[in-house]
Amino acid sequence: SRSGFCKENSTFYSKRNPISLPASPSLHVTTFISCQTHSGTTAFIDAATGQRLSFSDLWRAVDRVAECLHRDVGLRRGDVILILSPNSFYIPIVCLAVMSLGAVVTTANTLSTVGEISKQIADSNPTLAFTTVQLAHKLPAGISIVLTEEEHVEPSRVVRVVGVLSEMMKKEPSGQRVRDRVNQEDTAVMLYSSGTTGASKGVISSHRNLTSYVAKMVAKESLEDKILICTVPMFHTFGLLMFAMATVALGSTVVILRRFDLSDMLAAVEKYRATALILAPPVLVVMTNEGDIIKAKYDLSSLKKVTCGGAPLSKEVTEGFLKIYPTVHVLQAYALTESNGGGAYMDMVDSRRYGTVGTLTPDVEARVVDPNTGRFMGTNQTGELWLKGPSISKGYFKNQEATSETFNLEGWLKTGDLCYIDDEGFLYVVDRLKELIKYKGYQVAPAELEALLITHPDILDAAVIPFPDKEAGQYPMAYVTRTLGSNLSEKQVIDFISKQQVAPYKKIRKVAFINSIPKTASGKILRKDLIKLPSSKL
Ligand code: AMP
Repeated sequence: SRSGFCKENSTFYSKRNPISLPASPSLHVTTFISCQTHSGTTAFIDAATGQRLSFSDLWRAVDRVAECLHRDVGLRRGDVILILSPNSFYIPIVCLAVMSLGAVVTTANTLSTVGEISKQIADSNPTLAFTTVQLAHKLPAGISIVLTEEEHVEPSRVVRVVGVLSEMMKKEPSGQRVRDRVNQEDTAVMLYSSGTTGASKGVISSHRNLTSYVAKMVAKESLEDKILICTVPMFHTFGLLMFAMATVALGSTVVILRRFDLSDMLAAVEKYRATALILAPPVLVVMTNEGDIIKAKYDLSSLKKVTCGGAPLSKEVTEGFLKIYPTVHVLQAYALTESNGGGAYMDMVDSRRYGTVGTLTPDVEARVVDPNTGRFMGTNQTGELWLKGPSISKGYFKNQEATSETFNLEGWLKTGDLCYIDDEGFLYVVDRLKELIKYKGYQVAPAELEALLITHPDILDAAVIPFPDKEAGQYPMAYVTRTLGSNLSEKQVIDFISKQQVAPYKKIRKVAFINSIPKTASGKILRKDLIKLPSSKL
């Protein structure tokens, strides 16, 4: 049977109907069909300016931009382009245009520092970067830039500007179509994730991975997804796949906020009568704490659904939220950058099942594996979750070692999450086995901070672990071994990391000193031992 638990090979199958993938070779074709079907509908609204883009405007823009990038800028199949931009409708336009040429989209967090962006550029080697005038200074001198809109640019920077998106969108079509063929197995997107261990790596996602995700979202289509507010960042898998791809295929209207701001978001819900929000868990905490003021000020009666993902959402937070917003359904979804939306999600009928992240997405298979013995577990037994299916990415860019550690030869992705699946097929995320820290849903890689810490002359050794926090979920805490005779203080350690220019969400917010960092015989930090110490707890 294709439901529940299959004993023979210890695999859990999705209870949802399998989805026949579209025969079209690329995501570009899939979204093109949708844009034709929904031509008169509004695809995107810029919340700041009120500017609207219909589905036919969107398609025309994608087509013109693709032609300009191919003809004038020389973008070709296999080239990598970087997007460094706050949320805007330029992101879906660039994404779809670039992917239609068989080129590859990578993104950077707008909060990243110059150093962090340079590292990512050295790894992914983009030929072109899409950015705004405000963010252009974060890019290294060598890279060609396409600006979203023409504004006053300092002369020194103009040299590197090879195009302006708002101009490209207005160009007349030449009628010529010299385009490379795009195959399903071609890489479409490469988003950065630290995975289970180490620093950030490029996750290779093919057109096939993404069409499978989009087809799944279309099959799940619900009336609640008609008008959405986009507040989650589009540089992250959740925001990019949802708002540059799925909602386009669904024909939904998306109101885009450039960055997250609670009052802007609530005002947009009221103004546009939004039906659904996608939020990181900390926002629910704030919406609950400030519930009375919010309800007095905004009419949120159109809101039917809040989907949460990216980090754990507790039963207490959900219940607290529902006391104040009883007519809203709170749903969870679970996925990873490496799974391209493959994982689990909840349906409206299950919204009162607190604590679960839902049932497996269509066509996804799961295993729950004892991390110590490798034994496959049955229902209600906790172990590491492994996932397999058409949306699971193929591996990490230029990193065979990390790829073979995380993706096994049979195509299983080892998620690094401790989970169990109950008798009815509902998935529960119990804990994180991997070292990844999530601050308000943002990824923080301990290895990156540890590498910075040990460059301090007074620090002999260091380990970074997650410290629990009600609002942020977790924040990075450092255990530090000082050199003999040093009286380095907690504040000095904290300042040292902020001055090492990490993005603000990566800052170390707590420090404890320790005689030595516990390690395995092979030198791996025993993080779980550190997490168990009293100073690691609230
Ligand atoms: P990212 O690649 O940034 O999307 O991070 C993926 C990781 O976020 C997962 O491996 C989980 O550890 C965590 N995560 C995502 N969604 C959830 C959820 N609904 N509940 C608990 N943890 C989650």
